[in-house]
Amino acid sequence: MKIAVLSGKGGTGKTTVAVNLATVLACRYVDCDVEAPNGFLFLQPTVESKQDVLLQVPEIDHALCTRCQECVNHCQFNALLGAGSRINLFEKLCHSCGLCTLVCRFEAIKEKPRVIGYVEYGKRGQQECWRGVLTPGEPMGVPIIDALKDKLADGWSMLDAPPGSSCSVVATAIDTDFAILVTEPTPFGVHDLDMATQVIKKLGVPGAIVINRSVGDDRLIEDYAATNGIPVIGRLPFSLGAAQAIARGELLVQLPKWRARFEELGNRVRELVGWTS
Ligand code: SF4
Ligand code: SF4
Repeated sequence: MKIAVLSGKGGTGKTTVAVNLATVLACRYVDCDVEAPNGFLFLQPTVESKQDVLLQVPEIDHALCTRCQECVNHCQFNALLGAGSRINLFEKLCHSCGLCTLVCRFEAIKEKPRVIGYVEYGKRGQQECWRGVLTPGEPMGVPIIDALKDKLADGWSMLDAPPGSSCSVVATAIDTDFAILVTEPTPFGVHDLDMATQVIKKLGVPGAIVINRSVGDDRLIEDYAATNGIPVIGRLPFSLGAAQAIARGELLVQLPKWRARFEELGNRVRELVGWTS
């Protein structure tokens, strides 16, 4: 069972919800926010393993290349350029589809691995923690997220998605069993919540809303939830103390009041997904 935690934008409290909920539910935490994976700052797992994530990219043997341009014409991502006296590859535009290697009749293209980041595994007590880290400057997080998801054993996983509604969010949420949409009770919050909602609707993943930084009047979100048929399963109040604890890198569940809130939220999630163990 996989639960994805999404938000339409960064800074809504998605990671706060994901790490604290994973802790009260005693389930695996998986940080798929590969461009800014900060869940480990709160969980502080003891890292046990780290593995590079590789992409296969073409390598052109210019001695064999006839500059026929077949590879250039077939590349859908404009990663190959036939200007000048040789074919040039723009590695960071390459999506590793392998088509150029297939279409080259002169066997002038071989593939070579390129490291784009890594996945890391650790433990916090008995809690399993995974995260993916994209090398700064690399444009594609999806292969790292796919590598992370491939490593997950059976059991319950809480997937902390990247913010927004990009390919990386889709790669995280696809094939999950349930999504928690974290939002704020503001007009911007509604706008961004709608982006996350559209993602899970298209993927056919059921979901529920958690309102973060609630100040008592959540009508904007409640109206949106009612219109879209998505339940609101939790409200986390705006709190200076919580903000300070987060800034210190502390888990909110270490504070009794907040632990009770997350336990209540965890129970709602259990009910909705039919989590009996
Ligand atoms: S298809 Fe092969 S031979 Fe033709 S330009 Fe590309 S690398 Fe060179
Ligand atoms: S592997 Fe695919 S994306 Fe990369 S250069 Fe070749 S055709 Fe283009």
